[in-house]
Amino acid sequence: MEIELDGFDAVVVSPGVPLNRHPIAGRAAAAGVPVIGDIELFAQARASLPAHRVVGITGTNGKSTTTALVFHLLETAGVPALMGGNIGLPIMGRDALPAGGVYVLELSSYQIDLTRTLDCDVAVLLNITPDHLDRYDGFAAYAASKARLFAMQTGGVAVIAVEDDETRVVAAGLATADAAELVEVRSSDVGDQSAWPALQGPHNAQNVAVAVAVVRALGVDKDAIARGLESYPGLPHRMERIATVDGVLYVNDSKATNPTSTAPALAAYSKVHWILGGMAKTRDLDAVADELGHVVAAYTIGDSAALYAGLLTERGIPVVNAGTLERALGAAREAARAGEVVLLSPACASFDQYRDYEARGDAFRDLVGAMQS
Ligand code: ADP
Repeated sequence: MEIELDGFDAVVVSPGVPLNRHPIAGRAAAAGVPVIGDIELFAQARASLPAHRVVGITGTNGKSTTTALVFHLLETAGVPALMGGNIGLPIMGRDALPAGGVYVLELSSYQIDLTRTLDCDVAVLLNITPDHLDRYDGFAAYAASKARLFAMQTGGVAVIAVEDDETRVVAAGLATADAAELVEVRSSDVGDQSAWPALQGPHNAQNVAVAVAVVRALGVDKDAIARGLESYPGLPHRMERIATVDGVLYVNDSKATNPTSTAPALAAYSKVHWILGGMAKTRDLDAVADELGHVVAAYTIGDSAALYAGLLTERGIPVVNAGTLERALGAAREAARAGEVVLLSPACASFDQYRDYEARGDAFRDLVGAMQS
């Protein structure tokens, strides 16, 4: 049934709806009805909330980690906070924070596309690399979508990790626009990471640099920041240390659904038995080329098992085309020596074999658990 859109205030869609292909977008435009998402509903409801601030965090990779870290640093400092958005927790329908609270929102590009008036007190951009290009008319459109987060600011602070060409372009644009105060950060701002167990690896230096800049802008003191970085528990499925069995560490990085996200996990360990594969987003593994020296052997699973087995064999890496996670883990367990790491970091989406990346990571955790019993 086609509903007449005339007279509607807005069409509220889930960010999962691909608007570049869905007929609702054209029909709403023809009827002059805005298409928005739940973050815009939140933005419009802000006027009725007790005094508060909003942090909006976007980027291709590291959004969830940075969002959870900002939230944890605020909690450590005793600041009332809520996190929501793309991290999987809707922000609408939750109890409002008391005065002085901070809403920490993880925002995908799709969510930003569905948002018109979110004026962040602190807006954050981590990085921009090719991903999700099926939903955009090219890389420039994807990058422009992220830049809109800052275009909606009327003041406040913009924190940008100026470590890739695209984020530098966004920062340069902001420097001339002078709405928000621009704070440029770099991974090299962060020193020794050894006291932060859940924030290892060079990619986490970027997440820490950004999160620290955010909470400083919100007035959190150094002492609380230091305590928070130490006690940050990490997120499931992102380089999550599951267990050490026979001296071998098992790490679940199921959230890494493209090679760019996998690269940091390979970089973080020196001798890796790497389980990868699933529904491939790229036909190549160029994004991990620099890290392949860390791979002792690879075990491929899912739709792309043969494709990636071929690519890695060409590069001289021993490969087991295992097909399933269970067989991959069995083979990796046999091959791995004490001090080495078995890493599930698939570089692929999961939908060929699992409901989502969480189900895939949970399966890995269960299989490792079964080894211990
Ligand atoms: P997102 O929410 O943006 O998908 P996550 O914080 O869930 O990001 O991290 C997903 C994966 O991306 C991690 O497992 C890690 O391998 C990689 N990653 C995390 N932070 C960064 C970063 N700052 N730069 C590049 N890759 C990262």
